[in-house]
Amino acid sequence: MSEGLKTITELYRSKFVEKTPKSAELYRMNINLTPYGVHSNWRIFDPHPIFMSRGKGSRIWDVDGNEYIDFNMAFGALAIGHANPILVERIRERIENGTVFGFETEYSVKLADHLTKRFGFDMVRFSSTGLEATQLAIRLARAATNRPKILKFEGCYHGSHDSLLVGVKPDPLHAGHPRRPRSVPAGLGIPQDIADQVIIAPFNDIEAVENIMRIHGNEIAGIILEPIPMNMGIVLPKKGFLEGLRKLADEYNSLLIFDEVKTSGKFYRGAQDYFGVKPDILVVAKSLGGGYPFSAVLSRKEIMELIGPRKVAHGGTFNSNPLSVYAAYVVTTEILTESNLAYAQKLSSDLARGYRDVIEDTRIEAHVVDIATSGVVFFTREEINNWRDFVYKVNWGRWYAWILGMLVNGIIPQALGIDEQWTVSIQHTKEDIQRAIEVFDKVIREIKGKETVPVKVEEAI
Ligand code: PMP
Repeated sequence: MSEGLKTITELYRSKFVEKTPKSAELYRMNINLTPYGVHSNWRIFDPHPIFMSRGKGSRIWDVDGNEYIDFNMAFGALAIGHANPILVERIRERIENGTVFGFETEYSVKLADHLTKRFGFDMVRFSSTGLEATQLAIRLARAATNRPKILKFEGCYHGSHDSLLVGVKPDPLHAGHPRRPRSVPAGLGIPQDIADQVIIAPFNDIEAVENIMRIHGNEIAGIILEPIPMNMGIVLPKKGFLEGLRKLADEYNSLLIFDEVKTSGKFYRGAQDYFGVKPDILVVAKSLGGGYPFSAVLSRKEIMELIGPRKVAHGGTFNSNPLSVYAAYVVTTEILTESNLAYAQKLSSDLARGYRDVIEDTRIEAHVVDIATSGVVFFTREEINNWRDFVYKVNWGRWYAWILGMLVNGIIPQALGIDEQWTVSIQHTKEDIQRAIEVFDKVIREIKGKETVPVKVEEAI
């Protein structure tokens, strides 16, 4: 190791800084213009965020000209890969005919027809972001049940709006008992009164949820969750957990809401279909828009028909705009097909297998969790079943060194947040996977047994 650089983290950091001078310069300018130099808190990165210039297929290039194989894919919003040639061609034709009308178009009908059939619901409403869609979903649940409270799981994220910015990534020291967590607002500016409308439960602990429902069930309008939490790496639901929630929702006449903002682009009919558990309200987004802002709420007729003037409010200038709707139609009917998704799922499981082999060979304390087109490397041998496990059981210092090591070797191994995972797109190739595994092998061998700079997850997010 070079002199003066005590840890492998510092060595990688200095290489990162060496390779990204233009990003550093833009960051220095931007930090005076916008907090932390980024327009979404999830993009904050130490020592500085990378500024990108273009993407094509599985690759992305930064402003310094560095090429990366991209497994971030815009926080999982690009299952179709960068600048997908089919979509580029079709959007080029579309864009010349206007981008926003404030009227519906023929394609909004076609898309609604496709999505309701694909996901198995009667009706749908479109909006632009995951945030807007989860907001509508809980409003619908409250309207349908005439109850005030929502049950949500600690560590799950449903977008940046007050109503669900509760128990998102709390510091466990202030978040109450693990089986009966407190309703901690996610940061400043969210009144405790709003947070108190959200009851927090631990993921994967059906008994704890039963106990909470016994006390609060009659005031809970909806139970919202990511069926596979992907805002704490990847947490797989234990066998029977989703079925248990379905039963509890029925027992207490609460609505079950699946936030499939991420997973709707990873399974053809969503995780609901994969697990065979049907929610009352389904939220889909991200990859379905192929890089254009698109989200949707689906449910049965009697719930959706609560939307309307003097009933459930739902409006938006950019809702169902012709660009996003056309993109989503082309993506869902021609590009994100069942067979293309199966191809990306296969590549993702090859990547997971390759990483697992390296972990076994090097005996580094880590394990891989993967499902569909995504996966995550947890630097621990212990299982991660919920938020408290996530905070306490993983060696986050190692994780951070690993991320830097992969980056300086031309791989963006996952979205760069501590809580994220990788996404394999339908434009990745076998060679991309092979290359990522080779770099993983190199980096893991460099990290193994070396000192890393410690990272406290509750301070890093
Ligand atoms: N729900 C989930 C599960 C998400 O992962 C996200 C974003 N990562 C959102 C909702 C919010 O989506 P958006 O950023 O489009 O508002």
